[in-house]
Amino acid sequence: MLTLALNKGRVLAEAVPILERAGLVQPGQFKDTRALVFEPAEKSGLRVVVMRGADVPVYVEHGAADLGLVGKDTLFEHPTHEYFERLDLGIAKCRIMSAGLADAEFDISRPLRVATKFVRLSERFFAAQGQEVRFIKLSGALEVAPRLGLCDLIVDIVDTGETLRANGLVPLEMIAHVSSRVIVNRTALKVKQAEVLACLSRLQDSL
Ligand code: AMP
Repeated sequence: MLTLALNKGRVLAEAVPILERAGLVQPGQFKDTRALVFEPAEKSGLRVVVMRGADVPVYVEHGAADLGLVGKDTLFEHPTHEYFERLDLGIAKCRIMSAGLADAEFDISRPLRVATKFVRLSERFFAAQGQEVRFIKLSGALEVAPRLGLCDLIVDIVDTGETLRANGLVPLEMIAHVSSRVIVNRTALKVKQAEVLACLSRLQDSL
């Protein structure tokens, strides 16, 4: 049996039709339930555990889950050699962008203050521009930070841009494209190779 750690919320919602087409879960099993662990559907050999995105790479890194399904935004912040990224499902797409107040004026005599959840990714982006930055790590409600004077810019997930607009922010630079990826624990890929590859090909064939 394989265990899949599945990012709840938007990733789960968009992954369910693929998992169902692949015959890896029972139709409707995630609806109206607070259950977090789903034992394998008939012949699927796949146990599914639903969790917050940030925890998916942790379970897969430690081998507590053989496979993970999670947004690339989360993987940018959790680099490790303990899992491999094997499949892009092309779902739950969005962008990571910098954004700021429409009428902002920056004080160029001091480092740019950037608030974000994506510190690693942002560090790489601004370093490549030779821009000196002081990062402020936030975990939510980033959109209010520039208006309260906490930062000059934010780096955040943008889909339609509605959240930015509603908070008087404008998108500035494109930093990364995001979609949901399947990751595989390094040891599971060796020890359970046939099962893992069969599962990946069922997913691939169901896109
Ligand atoms: P929007 O207003 O359509 O630009 O959506 C932006 C907000 O929706 C962000 O602040 C995120 O919290 C959330 N969001 C949009 N797309 C995704 C995604 N694919 N994965 C995770 N969060 C998302």
